[in-house]
Amino acid sequence: MFNKIFALVFCSLLTACATSPTGRSQFIYMPDDQLNKMGLQAFNNLKTEKPQSQNSQYNKFVTCIAEAITHETGGNWEVVVFDDETLNAFALPGNKIGVHTGLIKLVDNQDQLAAVIGHEVGHVLARHSNERMSQKTAVSQSVALISAISAPTSALGQLAVSSLGIGAQYGIILPFSRTHESEADIIGLDLMAKAGFDPRQSVNLWQKMDQASKGKNPAEFMSTHPSHDTRIKELSEHIPTAMQYYQQAQSIGKTPRCRK
Ligand SMILES: [Zn+2]
Repeated sequence: MFNKIFALVFCSLLTACATSPTGRSQFIYMPDDQLNKMGLQAFNNLKTEKPQSQNSQYNKFVTCIAEAITHETGGNWEVVVFDDETLNAFALPGNKIGVHTGLIKLVDNQDQLAAVIGHEVGHVLARHSNERMSQKTAVSQSVALISAISAPTSALGQLAVSSLGIGAQYGIILPFSRTHESEADIIGLDLMAKAGFDPRQSVNLWQKMDQASKGKNPAEFMSTHPSHDTRIKELSEHIPTAMQYYQQAQSIGKTPRCRK
């Protein structure tokens, strides 16, 4: 409620009003091209810091799924598989997707990885990073945020990388809110189904993630994308709608066959 009032007041004062893909009103003032530059900078940093996977099967598997999903959103997306055993995947403004090899090993099939990638792309499409930064910074700081990305130990740098959802790489965790998680779940479910992936597998994926985060290697993904009690219930409620998209996709020949 407070956020709604906050958004309404600031929307009228600053004309910084936006509407998310699910129809929610958002307080956003940073220009998207600035967020895209930040995403690009952060992605380039990660590519120099982390080894990329040389496993051609894994690369083919991830590219096959990501291409099918991003075909539904348009735009050119860059996809990189990082050689990292932690369970994680992320997407950044500026159309960048990163998937860790640990997550590839966890999933049972293409549909489960499509659920994660769809969820991540959902965060980008709904401009959640921009919304987080717009809430936490002053307009005067917005330009400094771009260069701050390269210095994740500075206060502004920490804010920037954590708002982008990749702070865990640097030991700074800013979990997405329940509102953002639910929104990314719904957008992701529709996206994966429209691309021809079975949306019912999303429930299995989240249960697997939950289980894995209780094990000896806590899932990095779950620290920034916290699960909530109603997640499975909300997903299950939306599956009938997503199944219609899935059936339509199948009927026009969208039947991806991505194998690891
Ligand atoms: Zn999330």
